[in-house]
Amino acid sequence: MSAMADVIVVGGGPAGVAAAVELRRRGVPGVVLLDREAELGGATRHCRHSPFGMREFGRIYLGAAYGRRLTAEAARAGVEVRTGHSVVRLDGDGRLTVASPRGVEQLAARRVLIATGARETPRAARLLSGDRPVGVLTTGTLQAYVAFHRLMPFRRPVIVGSELVSLSALLTCLTHGARPVAMLEPAAHALAGAPFCWFPTLAGVPFHRGAQILDIRGRARVEEIAFRRADGGEERLACDGVLLTGRFTPEAALLRESPLGVDAGSAGPAIDQDGRTADPFLFASGNVLRAVETGGWAFREGRAVGRALAEDLSRGGAAGEPVRVDVEAPVKLVVPGLLRRQGHAAPAFRDFQLRVTARVRGRLSLEIDGREAWAAERVFMPERRILVPIPPGAFAAESVRFRFREQP
Ligand SMILES: Cc1cc2nc3c(=O)[nH]c(=O)nc-3n(C[C@H](O)[C@H](O)[C@H](O)COP(=O)(O)OP(=O)(O)OC[C@H]3O[C@@H](n4cnc5c(N)ncnc54)[C@H](O)[C@@H]3O)c2cc1C
Repeated sequence: MSAMADVIVVGGGPAGVAAAVELRRRGVPGVVLLDREAELGGATRHCRHSPFGMREFGRIYLGAAYGRRLTAEAARAGVEVRTGHSVVRLDGDGRLTVASPRGVEQLAARRVLIATGARETPRAARLLSGDRPVGVLTTGTLQAYVAFHRLMPFRRPVIVGSELVSLSALLTCLTHGARPVAMLEPAAHALAGAPFCWFPTLAGVPFHRGAQILDIRGRARVEEIAFRRADGGEERLACDGVLLTGRFTPEAALLRESPLGVDAGSAGPAIDQDGRTADPFLFASGNVLRAVETGGWAFREGRAVGRALAEDLSRGGAAGEPVRVDVEAPVKLVVPGLLRRQGHAAPAFRDFQLRVTARVRGRLSLEIDGREAWAAERVFMPERRILVPIPPGAFAAESVRFRFREQP
């Protein structure tokens, strides 16, 4: 074993850096922050746009500058940063296998915090048929090309998706010499709320809701796509690229391959109100919990879990068995998905965060030990966060369940 720390944080994006800085601020001496990239900042580093940092630093940064601010914060707090370090396995009991230019080594800590973020769904996982030409990218790849290599890989792409990140992709294209020929959203409505969803139309880019890609064609590069419109008609669009945006999924490979596994709904680790997983030595925060939130949200979540983790270290003692929070379809996920009786006085998570799988109208309610503790009736939209305050009684409950009754 080559190193022993109090806490090892895996992932140097906003959540991981905020947690590491908070741990140091609360007097935890040995905090090691590992990231596989050459610099800290995570997904924000290749965003050449704002806004980042308003809530946490009181000013607006472009993504790359925000990444540099995170680096400075970690250094100022005395966090031991090791970039170029990729965690390849969680070995349990606070031990990790890490690959770096020094080779493969095992590190160990009293606690481990996973903050590995999320990634967009690539072509293969979307099961898109057709040829395999050059020019089919995710937003993250596009922005890395633009930010690090000053390359715009196409001039007339089709953008697939309508989440906030899709609008970020559109903005990157428009400001770096590309003119998207259309935006296609498979759902019946835009996934970003107003006023953001008006952006494609204002920018003069045709926006097709309910549109399914049927085929991608091209010999060397993308030449055209075929898609089905919401009215059932089929259309072809000449283009030189396909930009697949959003449909984020937690970067949870480490957890999937560990005995802990991931939650079926969120595809990330289930955590309790303090960010602790079913393994009391392993914590998690940020977008790895659920895809996807903003940088500021991930930062605040990281800071809150860092505080809870510092308290956990100073308090010691057993964490106890968690109670699982159950959800009914169409609720897709809930964070935290576990509750522990022996949590801290001020939990890191004060709200349940939920998402639904599709646009639904109905009554969402929370039952604690069979008694209704909260309810709301309205339209719920997919990929929009729903926040429900965690009632104090929930921590001591034996059953916690979200129910949904659809209404016409
Ligand atoms: C294209 C795009 C545009 C965006 N625009 C905005 C915006 O305008 N405003 C905004 O607020 N938010 C924006 N976001 C969202 C924001 O970037 C994320 O919410 C935020 O970065 C999430 O922080 P995180 O710490 O959870 O994860 P990440 O930032 O994803 O960081 C995770 C880190 O973990 C590291 N890592 C992963 N696995 C391992 C491993 N096995 N070993 C070691 N290291 C590992 C990664 O290298 C990465 O550095 C955007 C995101 C994207 C992709």
